[in-house]
Amino acid sequence: MVDRPIYLDGHATTKVDSRVISAMMPYLDNYYGNPSSNAHVYGWETQAAIKQAREVIANAINAEETEIIFTSGATEANNLAIKGVAEAYFSKGKHIITCQTEHRAVIEPCEYLETLGFEVTFLPVKQNGLLDLSLLEKTIRPDTILVSIMTANNEIGVIQDIEKIGSICKAKEVVCHTDAAQALGKIPLDVQKMNIDLMSLTAHKIYGMKGVGALYVRRKNPRVKLASQIQGGGQERGFRSGTLCTPQIVAFAQAVKLALTQLETENQRQKQLRDYLWQRLSELSRIYLNGDFHQRLAGNLNISIEGVNGAALLLALQSKVALSSGSACSSTSTKPSHVLKALGHSDSLARASLRFGIGRFNTQEEIEEVADFTIKTINSLRLATSSC
Ligand SMILES: *Cc1c(COP(=O)(O)O)cnc(C)c1O
Repeated sequence: MVDRPIYLDGHATTKVDSRVISAMMPYLDNYYGNPSSNAHVYGWETQAAIKQAREVIANAINAEETEIIFTSGATEANNLAIKGVAEAYFSKGKHIITCQTEHRAVIEPCEYLETLGFEVTFLPVKQNGLLDLSLLEKTIRPDTILVSIMTANNEIGVIQDIEKIGSICKAKEVVCHTDAAQALGKIPLDVQKMNIDLMSLTAHKIYGMKGVGALYVRRKNPRVKLASQIQGGGQERGFRSGTLCTPQIVAFAQAVKLALTQLETENQRQKQLRDYLWQRLSELSRIYLNGDFHQRLAGNLNISIEGVNGAALLLALQSKVALSSGSACSSTSTKPSHVLKALGHSDSLARASLRFGIGRFNTQEEIEEVADFTIKTINSLRLATSSC
């Protein structure tokens, strides 16, 4: 196999941890019963495994087992939360509030609801990527039925003040949803303390499998109403039909367990690598950090570089470093990142951006190599541009 570049795209997805694979293997092999089969031991085995996994995931966010709805990932969880609330609350009102820097999996369902007659306010963010909470408060109206604000951003890594956002929503009696796909296992989450009614989760950003996630749905104080978006056999208390994927769910729980046991030590280690990388890169002139310096994920560094062509930069880096500019989903399109645009960047500066996602398996040596190579590449691209 060819020598592959150093993987620094941890916000797009992560390698499955070998301990996760070990936990999951028996459910790919020996325990294959349908967890909905009540009449025999094959069903009981997988039912028990799912119950255990559900408990782990519920505990991780201080929720009850019955409040966890397994889905195919955070995209589906966001769709269920947003469309499910819209459908269940439309007699109360048709106004939804979200934010310009959300993941496409929140923005697109909201835009879809606009075509059905809902009104959506996409709040701007401050230059540091954080929401102006007094603006949020002022934007809530009597007919507002949902506020959806992500916990941690997948491009610039900023962590919103979800606890305050939750309490604003609670005071105004508006359902509060948060997309916590990037936050789970990286910062402590507590749906009670944060006053969250709906929370989207996914496994593959924390060394679990792709194709599994969950939606937390509050059942008391208050009980959140939700219209199911997938009908069928009535699994997940009717909120999400379809046979549960036992191996992925077992893997999800194992991934959560691992992430929580090493949350603080990993954050410290990744932050140190991230700060080192930023310190090295900021020796260059005309380099800007995107997103708040302090209120951000430990493994995230997102920078914009003046005086280079964004496409040329990514091309020049790709033999040594696997990363993206903006999100994985938007990097295939030619449009600059909507998140960086929301920070006030021009199209060309937004394109000349790099998102470094440092993860569990990255080492100090790798980050040193990446720093050296990135600096060298930017210098030579700038030299080439200025000489022609
Ligand atoms: C990755 C991601 C998603 C999509 O999750 P999937 O499980 O891949 O559907 C949604 N929101 C955020 C913030 C993400 O980082």
